[in-house]
Amino acid sequence: MAADPVLAESASGPRPFSWSASRHDTFASCRRRYYYSYYAALEDDEVRRLKKLSALPLWAGSVVHDTIESFLRTNDTLPSAEEQEALVRSVVHSGMLADWRESEAGSLRFRLFEHEYDVPVEQEDKRLAVTTVMRSLKSFFRTETLRRALAVGRSQWLALEDLVSFHVGDVEVFLRMDLAYRDRDGRVVIVDWKTGRGEGRFNEVQVAGYALYATERGWVGDAEEISTELSYLVIPKAVRRVVTGKMVQHARNFIARSARDMKALLVDPAGNLARLEDFPMCDRPQVCRRCNFRRLCFPRAVDGPPRSAADAPPRTAEATPHTPSAGLASAGEESLRTTG
Ligand code: SF4
Repeated sequence: MAADPVLAESASGPRPFSWSASRHDTFASCRRRYYYSYYAALEDDEVRRLKKLSALPLWAGSVVHDTIESFLRTNDTLPSAEEQEALVRSVVHSGMLADWRESEAGSLRFRLFEHEYDVPVEQEDKRLAVTTVMRSLKSFFRTETLRRALAVGRSQWLALEDLVSFHVGDVEVFLRMDLAYRDRDGRVVIVDWKTGRGEGRFNEVQVAGYALYATERGWVGDAEEISTELSYLVIPKAVRRVVTGKMVQHARNFIARSARDMKALLVDPAGNLARLEDFPMCDRPQVCRRCNFRRLCFPRAVDGPPRSAADAPPRTAEATPHTPSAGLASAGEESLRTTG
């Protein structure tokens, strides 16, 4: 594992350098976390396992995306209200509960950060995850976007949860495209389902990235012929954007600058080789406390980042039910009754 000095100091990436928004985010948050995520994880099973840890809000978002993808792959019409309700119930009561139990049992397929690091989970946190999933899926069925996509038919769909790439200079840029389709007027509409509330720092770059990809694929002659839609399912609201030449240029510059900063830390940029000692640990305990790689940086508890009451509330009978799985189920039951 990465604590092994030989592996940690000589870990290298056999893959060519590439760029993504999450890679930029990781680099900005902590250089050491970036090294573990994009270099050490390629060679080390334990680092790879830690990298894959989910966390409650992230998990809720994944459940929503997976459910929407699965629905769109297998349905051509809008289900009845009863069928929608049954689907949402099944996602929470079967899918999420099964995930939770797997995570508790230490599964390699799905593991929550909270279970890995024994972080107490408040009933309110579980309720929030369940509510996010239920509200998002209910909103999804009501979106105008879904109606339009079903109306044009899947023969007009260009992408569905595809990991796509395009180039900025010699750097390959990856992004995930939730849904793209050609509307009745021949315009390409690119949709991004969002389960958070914030606009996000990368939205403009992301939107321009969609345009760059669509142009590279020949879907449109010009990036400005694309409509993008950021569909905030929890709120719910849809933000439609028209791509401008200025946005595309800004995105190109942003990506090129970010990639240059990342490559500057490589011991061999052409070979995409990295050494642990060139990627310092950050000095922000609040970031370390929520980091998947905490145990690698602080192998002894006494070395760990200082805890605060706000970060890790003390365990109490109320805060931590004796059977956490049952706690999730009851969070789901309650949300089923209260979400509209
Ligand atoms: S625990 Fe802290 S220093 Fe270590 S990788 Fe994570 S954020 Fe960086």
